Amino acid sequence: MSHDTTRSMPTPRRGGLIRRDLNGSVIVAIGLMHVLACAAVMPQLFTWSGLGIFLGMIWVSGGLGITLGFHRLLTHRSFRTPKWLEYLLTTCGCIAWQGSPVLWVGVHRLHHKHSDLPEDPHSPKHGFTWSHVLWTLHKRIDGIDGESAAKDLLRDPRQAWLHRYHWLPQLVFAAALIGVGWAVGGLMLGLSWFVWGVALRTVVVYHGTWFVNSATHTWGYRNYKDSGDESTNLWWVALLCFGEGWHNNHHAHPRSAAHGLRWFELDPTWMTIRLLGKVGLARDVRLPSKAQMPSAQPKAGAAPTVAEAASALIQVPAPSVAVSSNSES
Ligand SMILES: [Zn+2]
Ligand SMILES: [Zn+2]
Repeated sequence: MSHDTTRSMPTPRRGGLIRRDLNGSVIVAIGLMHVLACAAVMPQLFTWSGLGIFLGMIWVSGGLGITLGFHRLLTHRSFRTPKWLEYLLTTCGCIAWQGSPVLWVGVHRLHHKHSDLPEDPHSPKHGFTWSHVLWTLHKRIDGIDGESAAKDLLRDPRQAWLHRYHWLPQLVFAAALIGVGWAVGGLMLGLSWFVWGVALRTVVVYHGTWFVNSATHTWGYRNYKDSGDESTNLWWVALLCFGEGWHNNHHAHPRSAAHGLRWFELDPTWMTIRLLGKVGLARDVRLPSKAQMPSAQPKAGAAPTVAEAASALIQVPAPSVAVSSNSES
């Protein structure tokens, strides 16, 4: 991509691989995970316990860690929770191996600030593959300073520690999994647990998160046609990412704890927040006002297709917690 020399500030470069800015350690880590995940096709490495760990850890690292922790709690502060739970959720997110929570939060805040504009770190307008994965392979992208966008987290010494050692929880978990599996059932069980519970699980959560950046700015329907970006609602990303696929709703109301706002928009993370609220572990839960709900929009989104409606396994009831106004964080 070329720079715009007619402006005093250069146009940020986006799209494709920019060789001199590539992050070798990230490329090796992501590449290695994909290679190791391929071992899951080996019948001798399949165990039912490994499958159980795989599914459970998708929820722990992707659902509780990334979606509930990194995104709705740390990035948007859509609810508040005791500090011990915040650190626990942050640690779960670190197990997804998506980098430092501070950088994850900072980059995502910049995505909201510049959604689908030249400064957006990962818009499909700069290439679908760029928005899905290529941007993650760079250590430096022009105009992106994730740390500065998440200074509030760095002021917390425990979050600063997790920022520095974000890679550690996944390594500890992997070592524990191999060790315990080996001890209780032999080496092949330990390897099965590692391949399913670490490698394949990490890759599945990677692509789930990446689809939020790529697919839900490309395909789907829009409840809020004037959200000022290309964000969309896409049922299969919502299923894969615990409710994150209702991304057009989220861009319209970034601070809302609920992303699914229509009856068929299943949002397991919102259900988790409601549950946390019931047991006193979530407070100051933010939601759109009635006038901000999709049903009150003058240009309400199109009626759900059969596929969208089919994604609704249960109904998301009307919010019963306190309503507060939303503003861009
Ligand atoms: Zn987005
Ligand atoms: Zn967000």
